[in-house]
Amino acid sequence: MKAEFDLLEADRSRRRSSSYNVVQIPLLRLVGLTLVAIGVLVHNYFFLRIFSWTEFLEIASIQVGYSLASWLILYLYYEKFKLFNLGEFFLHLDVLLLVVAVYYSGGERSWLFFLLIFRTVDQASRSFRTVMAFAHESVFAYVLLIFYLVFVEHRDISVPTEISKVFILYAANLYIALTAVQALRNRTIAAMRVARDLTAQLREKSDQLEESKNKAEAANLAKSQFLAIVSHELRTPLTAVIGFANVLMKDKNKKLDSHEILYLERIVENGKHLLRIINDILDLTKIETGHLALEIGPVPLEALVRQIFAEFEEQIREKDLSLRMECHDHTAKLETDQVKLKQVLLNLIGNGIKFTEKGSVTVRVQVNEATRVPSRIDVIDTGIGIPSDRLESVFDAFQQVDNTNARAYGGAGLGLTISRSLCGLMGYRLTLESKVGHGSTFSIHLN
Ligand code: ADP
Repeated sequence: MKAEFDLLEADRSRRRSSSYNVVQIPLLRLVGLTLVAIGVLVHNYFFLRIFSWTEFLEIASIQVGYSLASWLILYLYYEKFKLFNLGEFFLHLDVLLLVVAVYYSGGERSWLFFLLIFRTVDQASRSFRTVMAFAHESVFAYVLLIFYLVFVEHRDISVPTEISKVFILYAANLYIALTAVQALRNRTIAAMRVARDLTAQLREKSDQLEESKNKAEAANLAKSQFLAIVSHELRTPLTAVIGFANVLMKDKNKKLDSHEILYLERIVENGKHLLRIINDILDLTKIETGHLALEIGPVPLEALVRQIFAEFEEQIREKDLSLRMECHDHTAKLETDQVKLKQVLLNLIGNGIKFTEKGSVTVRVQVNEATRVPSRIDVIDTGIGIPSDRLESVFDAFQQVDNTNARAYGGAGLGLTISRSLCGLMGYRLTLESKVGHGSTFSIHLN
């Protein structure tokens, strides 16, 4: 992911640099050097009192011709040429074109010698070394021009005047380079300060987050431990209550009347309901605290489902309901934790029966065509269904579609929470599709 990001970023910065060197700079060069040619014309007319179209056309074609030729070379070769940076090369070559402009505006008589500070000015935002290189190059190019005028054209040149001009040029270039560096340093210091402050803020925020996370984890652990202790403490006396109520119900001495037997039956019934809820809470806390280990072995799915159906025989006898099993012949055994898978199926089939008055509850096992290993188990009922806005929340602890369900159908809203957690533990996914009035399909995705 990081490598991918780096590649993308590198590509973006390469394209930025290419558009800067192949489009922006050449366009500026063309405009700048054309203006320089016009500047030479104006300078010669007003300062040297000379007006020559021939000379103007000469200098204009040199400047424009050079701009267009360098643009073409950059366009064709900027990406391909690897020996040195072509964009940078033309930036340095431009200095010579400025010297040519000084030559055409009278050489030693030109007032345009200050043009030679331009490159240092327009590159001032770059590194100290680059700015200094342009500063020295500009002065050196002017000195070369003077040598040319003296030794090739044999012009009569005032040495003190030229030394002063070189000195002025050098001082101006150095001044620009040094102030640029100071500005650069200030900008860098400001940016570093901002970066340092941001890092400190980030560190503080991440410390706070870490602290909150630790606190939340500690609170969650304390809650789970509390629930485990309370559930355990409730379970022991409750088992005794149910046990003794059962003993009394047998009424060995035949002393109890029918009312008293009914009360005892209620005690046992409510006690068992309470015990189921307490066991569910204990299961959930065990999953949350990671105290539930898997015991993997080969599981014959069809046999397991038939065994579960048998447990519900009593319950469906009172309803107009059939239990169905759809499973391919020669389905391979599933390698999983039988006890936990049974607990999930018991809950899903139990819910199907609980929320379906007539029709069917079907368990359909889908297999991988090649290996015959089960790939999905659907528990499909034709019951009351679940509204679309509750399809996710029914998996949250203590959530029921309608809280009056608790009274109508029993249950505490923990079964699906436990089922989804157990599926996760076994590496499966539990999903739900449903339509109110038509039924629900819970699917265990096994891979
Ligand atoms: P419980 O059944 O103990 O209340 P569950 O977590 O198993 O808890 O189910 C939560 C809620 O989801 C149920 O109370 C019911 O509203 C809804 N529900 C679960 N299964 C079905 C189903 N097959 N048909 C309709 N509603 C269902």
